[in-house]
Amino acid sequence: MTKHSVDIFISGGGIAGLVAAAAFGRAGFSVLAVDPMPPAAHADAEGSDLRSTAYLQPARALLDRIGLWEALREHATPLDALRVIDTTGWPPVERASREFTPDELGPEPFGWNLPNWLTRKLLAERIAGLERVDLRLGVGFASLLQREREAVVTLTDGTRVIARLAVAADGRASPLREAAGIGVTTKRYGQKALAFSITHAVPHGNISTEIYNQGGAFTLVPLPDHDGMPASAVVWMNDGARALDLAGMDAEAFEAVMLERSCGVLGAMHLASPRRLWPIVTQTADALSAERVAVIAEAAHVLPPIGAQGLNTSLNDVAALVALAEEAPGAVGTPAMLDRFAKGRARDIKARATVIDLFNRVCRSGDAPVQALRLAGLKAVYDVAPVRRAVMRAGLGPG
Ligand SMILES: Cc1cc2nc3c(=O)[nH]c(=O)nc-3n(C[C@H](O)[C@H](O)[C@H](O)COP(=O)(O)OP(=O)(O)OC[C@H]3O[C@@H](n4cnc5c(N)ncnc54)[C@H](O)[C@@H]3O)c2cc1C
Repeated sequence: MTKHSVDIFISGGGIAGLVAAAAFGRAGFSVLAVDPMPPAAHADAEGSDLRSTAYLQPARALLDRIGLWEALREHATPLDALRVIDTTGWPPVERASREFTPDELGPEPFGWNLPNWLTRKLLAERIAGLERVDLRLGVGFASLLQREREAVVTLTDGTRVIARLAVAADGRASPLREAAGIGVTTKRYGQKALAFSITHAVPHGNISTEIYNQGGAFTLVPLPDHDGMPASAVVWMNDGARALDLAGMDAEAFEAVMLERSCGVLGAMHLASPRRLWPIVTQTADALSAERVAVIAEAAHVLPPIGAQGLNTSLNDVAALVALAEEAPGAVGTPAMLDRFAKGRARDIKARATVIDLFNRVCRSGDAPVQALRLAGLKAVYDVAPVRRAVMRAGLGPG
């Protein structure tokens, strides 16, 4: 049986796991990261992740610091403004529209949008060239033995890995988190999100648009032009049955409903990818650490896709964990380090999960009083300048 000794073992080579691998490698630690699913080679490949992620300023700063941003930069679309439109009824009638611009906070855009499948591919290519990082695709985590001084991991190909710290970055059903005996608390909403990309007649002008109506948000996030046409990534949240109906419609019928739902903000729209369905939940791990184990990213928290918080919160986990390791390299994986990580991250994760849960409940509601509250909330946040700036700053996250 092959045996390996490393500082850090990472289960999961999704975007969060890959960024963690690069960050630990750059900080001088030896890393072994594994994932049974290699990245998709192109957008239409089976199982490719058609979501996009708006990397907010702290996430971009982390990617820059660890040398990954240069691999992504040319594919990223800056988000120069966030437009929020509140609508009611069907077909949706606009009640209010507000545009948030980041220039009140500084010269940078709010964020930079990138398709997930492409990000994962580019990151895996970049990481393959890093000296201290051994990235193995096509092999997964199988079992865990926790000891006071090390985690002993067995992989699906029988390899045994001895690590000072094992990091669970293996997604919402995290096998490593489960093996460490950490449960989850899950809130379900009966909602699903459709994620896909489109081309449209009217240029997006690098503005991300969220349109609220009963059922949840309809979000358009700018992408680079596709086949010479302006393009955007769409996340469309709905009650489950409605989402399934929409996913099953033929393209022409779907595009007609989508045009109504978008209030025509980007003119005629055409599908440029398949539609993928995602269940909407808030899920938090009952603990962020166990002996020799740290739990990060969706293994630690799954949030409804509102305000680009999910993966950005995950990258804040990575930044916090690596900062602690750099501060005291000899203490990596010790209870003192893991306690500090768990305490430091728990508050931010809980705060974001609570706010997004509340926001989602208010946004999806069809009740007239709650809809009135949503409209009043948008106006209050936007029209009072200090509140507007505080909300924008909080949305961008710590850092
Ligand atoms: C519709 C939608 C839109 C979103 N938009 C945004 C956005 O704009 N901004 C944002 O910040 N967030 C967004 N999010 C959230 C974001 O997409 C997720 O947080 C992120 O993709 C999850 O990344 P991850 O690396 O934690 O998990 P995953 O991408 O799920 O990666 C986990 C990896 O673990 C691997 N794995 C599974 N089993 C094993 C095993 N046994 N051993 C090793 N590896 C294993 C899997 O193959 C997978 O590659 C959105 C979410 C949804 C649903």
